[in-house]
Amino acid sequence: MKDHFNRTIDYMRISITDRCNLRCRYCMPDGCEKVPMDRILTYEEIERICRIAARLGIRKIKITGGEPFVRLGCTDLIRTLKSIDGIDSVTVTTNGQILSRYMDDLKDAGVDGINISLDTLDPQRYAYITGGGSLDRVLEAIRLAAESGIPTKVNSLIQKGFNEDEICRLASFAFQEGVLVRFIELMPIGIADPSQGISNELILQMLLEEWPDLGKDSRPHGNGPAVYYSRPHTAGGIGFISAIHNVFCSSCNRIRLTSQGQIKPCLSYDTGIDLKPYLKGTDEELEAALREAILSKPVGHCFEEKRFGSEEHRLMSQIGG
Ligand code: SAM
Ligand code: SF4
Repeated sequence: MKDHFNRTIDYMRISITDRCNLRCRYCMPDGCEKVPMDRILTYEEIERICRIAARLGIRKIKITGGEPFVRLGCTDLIRTLKSIDGIDSVTVTTNGQILSRYMDDLKDAGVDGINISLDTLDPQRYAYITGGGSLDRVLEAIRLAAESGIPTKVNSLIQKGFNEDEICRLASFAFQEGVLVRFIELMPIGIADPSQGISNELILQMLLEEWPDLGKDSRPHGNGPAVYYSRPHTAGGIGFISAIHNVFCSSCNRIRLTSQGQIKPCLSYDTGIDLKPYLKGTDEELEAALREAILSKPVGHCFEEKRFGSEEHRLMSQIGG
């Protein structure tokens, strides 16, 4: 359906858990509070919300978290959501630490794409930024995912003083492995320090100095606002998701469902509609609440100017990245 600003809303990102097997320093600090399991939506509730969302025109779903694969039954949920009339695509975002053991199931479930987060190719740095993760495991997951034929993208978040010296190395990785590496601008959510962020414009300039043949790639590669570049006769490519420096709110097509059942119309605000009470009612009541949530989507994010004092302070892992 269309929102108040004539944007077609056809994409829902669903956080199925706030828990994670890593502790990325900008996302989920050690010792942060976990939501009790009885406050997390059941898979049946998620399926029901998706059926109703499909009636309102949601066509694409992204499963995220926290780390989606730490919740048992994640691949079964993907299979179920794939079978809903009107849903064209179900993709998943993961840190890749335990992805390898689910690859066959995922393929069988018909997942339409896998995004794997990887900020550095240095094992010590990887362990540092993720609070103990294994670079080997995520690299193996990326290879397996790419070999499986499922469209695979790597998401890299660059931060000043941490991995800015790896920008070209990560791009080389994209060309060597034949995958898309997307640079994501750091957003001021939760504990992330916005002064650490680097603009994608700067990253593109650096890449063009290294690879002057890098050109705009207008082929569609996904559901979101990423802008892609590729090189002639070279596999793989580079994407840019520039939430801060190239505001794409006017074409935003998404809403989010948190693990506790709140619909967040925009990532940057802490406002939304809690669907939990409506889950006790009829499908029509739930549909009306979802419709209201879509219609309450603001015109744009508030990352740069703080409006209404309602900017998001929860952790990225709690709202779903
Ligand atoms: N655990 C999964 C993973 O790491 O891919 C899925 C959830 S994680 C929150 C999804 C993505 O959000 C990751 O690529 C992570 O780097 C990104 N992320 C976390 N905090 C962020 C922030 N403040 N700004 C931009 N991206 C962020
Ligand atoms: Fe976990 Fe993903 Fe957050 Fe890292 S970015 S702590 S892997 S949810």
